[in-house]
Amino acid sequence: MSRVYNFSAGPAVLPEEVLQEAADEMLDYRGCGMSVMEMSHRSKTYETIITEAEQDLRDIMNIPDNYKVLFLQGGAHLQFAMIPMNLMKNRKAGYILTGQWAKKAFAEAKLYGEAVELASSADKTFSYIPDCSDLPITDDMDYVYICENNTIYGTKYKTLPNTKGKILVSDVSSCFLSEPVDVTKYGLIYGGVQKNIGPAGVVIVIIREDLIPDECLPGTPTMMKYKTHADAGSLYNTPPAYGIYICGKVFKWIKKMGGLSVMQQRNIEKAKILYDFLDSSQLFKGTVVPEDRSLMNVPFVTGDEEMDAKFIKEATAAGFVSLKGHRTVGGMRASIYNAMPKEGVEKLVAFMKEFEAKNK
Ligand SMILES: *Cc1c(COP(=O)(O)O)cnc(C)c1O
Repeated sequence: MSRVYNFSAGPAVLPEEVLQEAADEMLDYRGCGMSVMEMSHRSKTYETIITEAEQDLRDIMNIPDNYKVLFLQGGAHLQFAMIPMNLMKNRKAGYILTGQWAKKAFAEAKLYGEAVELASSADKTFSYIPDCSDLPITDDMDYVYICENNTIYGTKYKTLPNTKGKILVSDVSSCFLSEPVDVTKYGLIYGGVQKNIGPAGVVIVIIREDLIPDECLPGTPTMMKYKTHADAGSLYNTPPAYGIYICGKVFKWIKKMGGLSVMQQRNIEKAKILYDFLDSSQLFKGTVVPEDRSLMNVPFVTGDEEMDAKFIKEATAAGFVSLKGHRTVGGMRASIYNAMPKEGVEKLVAFMKEFEAKNK
């Protein structure tokens, strides 16, 4: 067996212990004589799996009792529509545009009502987070929407926007469980799990109970009402059962590691190794303003496309894979999620130094 250092933005690296445990349980889950994949989602065994997963997530994130945790499907993309369908009572909401995912959510919301651009960093290729201290939020807006960590551009909100009393809706797909979070500051937090938590196919929604409407916009499918899933404990229909089982294992791994403050400490340390090198390098440079840099996704360039391609090719051959930047941005991007060991970042930086010395 040979494992690479996987810098993919998503689906992405998972803790090796979790994968090993899943492998050990693949054919016979704890004496059941079957895989979790083959098991009824109505069975007692599965009920324990999903209940523990939810409880562990609640423990890790310190989720208050008046918030529901939903394990859903359809990826982050389906939330781009579910959010307005469920929350746009006045058919008006404010969006802060910090990259492609926020823009896609904004475009989708326009199908259902008036989506207003509150701020944008498009003028500088989304390389910073705009000032959100005094946004043109109006009283009739149902919510303010952000993408908290911009996977493609490598920016992260260090302070949440002043929403002027409106509820905050946040896509945390690529920073989920990377640091402690005060859930009470949000009306709704959601994320696809394939960046930092588990296999693609699961999206987690954490929503304040009183925001779950009895009535959604006319024509909202039953499957797209938060109430449907909240009332059924995420078991309205067959959930992405195996995916939730793996998420549960990752939650236990995070707990065992010491929780979100330990994750944050590790992530700060790892990111610092890479950013410090980028700031001192003659060849490579980061693309994001220092104050808004993400701990999870680190884009960088040489300024020369051919050199970028050469680097990616040689890095791949050396076992550092998926370093190519997003197709809309180019250059490189190292995604260094929770499960990326510090050693992986250290070795990448050593490789970059060597590459730089050879290509001066
Ligand atoms: C990956 C990603 C998405 C898209 O996720 P899907 O599960 O493919 O729909 C949305 N938002 C953010 C921040 C992402 O990183």
